[in-house]
Amino acid sequence: MSVQQRIYRFGTDEHGRDVTEGSSSMNYILGGKGANLAEMARIGLPVPPGFTITCQTCVEYSTAGNTWPEGALDEIAEAEADLERRMGKRLGDPADPLLVSVRSGAPFSMPGMMDTVLNLGLNDASVQGLIVQTENPRFAWDSYRRFIQMFSDVVLGVDAELFENAITQKKLIAGVRSDAELSAEDLEELVAEFKQIFSEHVDATAHPELLVDGEIVFPADPALQLRLAIQAVFGSWMNERAILYRKQNGIPDDLGTAVNVQVMVFGNKGATSATGVAFTRNPANGAREFYGDFLVNAQGEDVVAGIRNTEPISDLKTVEGLEQAGTELERVFTVLENHYRDMCDIEFTIEQGRLWMLQTRVGKRTATAALKIAIDMVDEGLITREEAVGRVDPAQLDQLLHPQFDASAELDILARGLNASPGAAVGEIVFSSDDAVARAAEGHPVVLVRWETNPDDLKGMVAAEGILTSHGGKTSHAAVIARGMGTPCVCGVEAFQIDAAKKEVRVSGTDIVLHEGDIISIDGATGIVVAGAVPLVSAELTGDLETILAWADEIRLSENGGRPCHVRVNADNPADAKLALDFGAEAIGLCRTEHMFLGDRKNIIQTYILSDDDAERAEALQELLRVQTEDFVQMLKTMSGRPMVIRLIDPPLHEFLDDPRALEISIAKRESDGADEAELAALRDRLRRIDAMSESNPMLGLRGVRLSVVYPDLPLMQVRAITTATAQLIKDGYDPRPEILVPLVAITEEHVQTREVIEQVIAEVERDSGVKLDIPVGTMLELPRACLVADDIARHADFFCFGTNDLTQTAFGFSRDDAEAKFIPIYLHRKILKANPFETIDDAVLELVRMAVEKGRDANSAMHFGVCGEHGGDPASIVKFFNVAGVDYVSCSPYRVPVARLAAAQAKLKRA
Ligand code: ADP
Ligand code: MG
Ligand code: MG
Repeated sequence: MSVQQRIYRFGTDEHGRDVTEGSSSMNYILGGKGANLAEMARIGLPVPPGFTITCQTCVEYSTAGNTWPEGALDEIAEAEADLERRMGKRLGDPADPLLVSVRSGAPFSMPGMMDTVLNLGLNDASVQGLIVQTENPRFAWDSYRRFIQMFSDVVLGVDAELFENAITQKKLIAGVRSDAELSAEDLEELVAEFKQIFSEHVDATAHPELLVDGEIVFPADPALQLRLAIQAVFGSWMNERAILYRKQNGIPDDLGTAVNVQVMVFGNKGATSATGVAFTRNPANGAREFYGDFLVNAQGEDVVAGIRNTEPISDLKTVEGLEQAGTELERVFTVLENHYRDMCDIEFTIEQGRLWMLQTRVGKRTATAALKIAIDMVDEGLITREEAVGRVDPAQLDQLLHPQFDASAELDILARGLNASPGAAVGEIVFSSDDAVARAAEGHPVVLVRWETNPDDLKGMVAAEGILTSHGGKTSHAAVIARGMGTPCVCGVEAFQIDAAKKEVRVSGTDIVLHEGDIISIDGATGIVVAGAVPLVSAELTGDLETILAWADEIRLSENGGRPCHVRVNADNPADAKLALDFGAEAIGLCRTEHMFLGDRKNIIQTYILSDDDAERAEALQELLRVQTEDFVQMLKTMSGRPMVIRLIDPPLHEFLDDPRALEISIAKRESDGADEAELAALRDRLRRIDAMSESNPMLGLRGVRLSVVYPDLPLMQVRAITTATAQLIKDGYDPRPEILVPLVAITEEHVQTREVIEQVIAEVERDSGVKLDIPVGTMLELPRACLVADDIARHADFFCFGTNDLTQTAFGFSRDDAEAKFIPIYLHRKILKANPFETIDDAVLELVRMAVEKGRDANSAMHFGVCGEHGGDPASIVKFFNVAGVDYVSCSPYRVPVARLAAAQAKLKRA
């Protein structure tokens, strides 16, 4: 026998005394519905009495292969008898039957679980009692047929359509249009027909307990009805839909669901009865008004099912016979808001003028409403600023920062894909980056449609309003780059059969073919693809959003409650830097200088790398120095007064060169075109040089600090550019604050030697310019070895910046692109991994960061620590970086800065 309590009562007893045992804090025991029913009963709101069977009982039941734990059935029988005593009625009583509902309710609201069964306890005998008690045969027979219908569908999986067909048939015969017009006799006949359907469609081998004389019979025994209904709820915890939903939403499988058995109240007992759903505020825009719908003379599901037109909740008080219940409901709204200190959504039923509460919970709301409600509640004195900031979901906030589909637009959905990068975009379809650039240059917004993108598509991706791929996942190249740029992106649109050569897309499952130039709209927040132009509404950092973020800044930057939590931005150009400042970034946490070598600069760096003419190479280097100096002048000017971390060149050099395979193809082509030998020889020579640069494992090859050791010219040119720009700006009266970052250090000596030459260049520029320079030099920690010797490195570094992308790759030994394309999905599916470590920081990698921060701080107390890399924009990771690893800042792409500000404030709040 387990010592755990399996059953909790709620509501009143036979003396009207409250006997509730649970409360709203018991979500994990009673499920959300049960916990809140208990809470409402506890604070004196009218809740039909009942009891809740715990989630733990469900777990016991399902882990034992859907068999009952010892004693559980006895406890349920006891609870049932207790409820009968409290109500002074018995289930199945032929004179005056008690009826109950059986309702599932997991700790998290979860579609895909078993539905509710209403009116349980009816049978051929007790329906007579109901007729006598209500003096309403029509109502009684209608309740009975609803029960058989729901029980058959929900508990035994009999096809719901069979019953709907029978009803339609009956209406035809009776010559009526709506269910409401069916007579008591019609309904009585339907009950008989429904039982017949039941007998014919329930599998006897699966349900021997339903056999009577060798035939399946609808169960008359209320205890059996109840047991089967509870079993069905418990069983549905592990059904496919529920498992899938949990997986998609990160809900653990071992929570189980509770079952609530609750006395029925009836909203369908005539003109003074009603049922409805409501919110205590408007969940769409947050306005402080009662919001919802009701139906007179209706039961439970009718409101959501949309069978009849509902009426707005504000009219409830004006309906004759419902005035009092309407007023009472408004009082309940206020009680609930004051009690939960949040917007609630509720289900209620009015039985012959008397109000009953059937459900409440903190209500879901749009991002706009979330902000408005939080701020209003601070103004109303209901919650503190800290609570307001703590309540806004950073992921939801993200939606507000990008243009969105106008909510009032009708969407003709063409296909769906993965919601890879939020925001909506409208544009002409283009199939190549060159076309994207060309068309955009002519002033036409474009959506780049590709099988998958690669680094060569960058210019097209920059030019496009939106990106759609048919193959990539949420962490594919397209998705990652799009998120970084803040460009809307829908990935993995499998229905799109793209023929880039023909410049057309077939949409499978339809006969639609789209061509270049056709307009499509994509919504990267939902993954929806629509043909034609959907009207957009644009995002602004104003109003409520600005208010919440200002509060968030106050919290995260305060010296109280430990180290402040700073937010920097990853930006490589003045436009991004400017945008990020508008979005509230305090500094640049990472400027990737190699991005400055793309576009028209690519030629110069290619000449530098490939030429064997020393003079030509020196000239190329001079040219790079000139353009980079100008880049840094622009950036440092934009960031005047604020730190800017500049990373020296990091990627393997071959990334700046042409793809050898493409070159090979074009050589073959020139050959067959009859190009002259000299041209071919030059091309072949170029190919040879490119091949010579290639490495079998570039991610682990000649890159990062290793380039500074082997080919110091390039990084030292960068140092000279940074320093020259700084000296010049100081002369011009600005306050440039560059910080030089050395990437991919593994060994202390790599850093020491590189720093030495960096300092020499700085000293030279200082001497030549006559300007005193103070430029910190830091290390990028992105290899496990570096983290292990962080104390040693710290003695030679002014700051650490953690490159958690590479650190994750090297800690796991995963190459990101390969891993995400080939096996991470399988790992997630098989639960070898709980989350993609490239999206949310892995705890072991986090431990490397934490350890390195600790070692670094011990060795050099003047140091500061930051995280750049995509994790720096992930709310869950941000909290861990600040609170577990103890870093000073996170740095992320411009569009994620507001999200990071909020997440950083929430991290600070969580410490308290
Ligand atoms: P869901 O989680 O799908 O909302 P519910 O358990 O809340 O399922 O029930 C479905 C419908 O049945 C709701 O409209 C609810 O108000 C109604 N209902 C549930 N239990 C009762 C009851 N004891 N008396 C009257 N209506 C009920
Ligand atoms: Mg409900
Ligand atoms: Mg790196």
